[in-house]
Amino acid sequence: MERPGDTDRALLELAALRDSLRDSGNRERAGRFSCDGCVSWCCREGFNSMRATPLEAEAILRLLEERGGLEEGLDRAREAVERWRLGDDAPGRTYTCPFLTAGSRCGVHGAKPLGCVTFTPVRDGGCDQDGDRLAAVLERAAVLNDRALRGEAWEPRPLPAAILEAAYRFFPRATKQSRQ
Ligand code: SF4
Ligand code: SF4
Repeated sequence: MERPGDTDRALLELAALRDSLRDSGNRERAGRFSCDGCVSWCCREGFNSMRATPLEAEAILRLLEERGGLEEGLDRAREAVERWRLGDDAPGRTYTCPFLTAGSRCGVHGAKPLGCVTFTPVRDGGCDQDGDRLAAVLERAAVLNDRALRGEAWEPRPLPAAILEAAYRFFPRATKQSRQ
């Protein structure tokens, strides 16, 4: 099935936003703070409550498809939703991201949500969301979601739940998930 062109265009713009956030953050932190050697506490249960928009989830799905890991990614997302009860979207739930690798790296680095890109070390031993940097692009990111979803209502959801929803939201994928 042909993918909708407006979704493709929105994904390209989202990628540009992600790149610009990453570049500006890297420039600012260069030589001062680094994630090197950390076991990625910010991606783990107890700390991580990252949410993703439908378009951010679709970007991750496309990355997984490109490298042949879609079914595994969906399985891992489903396990996370069940284990940490993310489906009901209750406030305060944290979870270990299903895309965190055994080596404590982000397994979807090239397509990670904007909130992940802007969560950084801010001083020795401390990390936080760079709220100002994120806020500067949120409005544009919302417009991209509206355009890709053609006016359909949406809201950010815990990343694993957003992944499962996006798997058949933009166009029907023939996956185990969509056949359930
Ligand atoms: S932002 Fe902080 S907690 Fe997350 S990986 Fe980097 S150093 Fe570790
Ligand atoms: S997408 Fe990557 S950076 Fe974001 S929570 Fe998951 S593993 Fe961490």
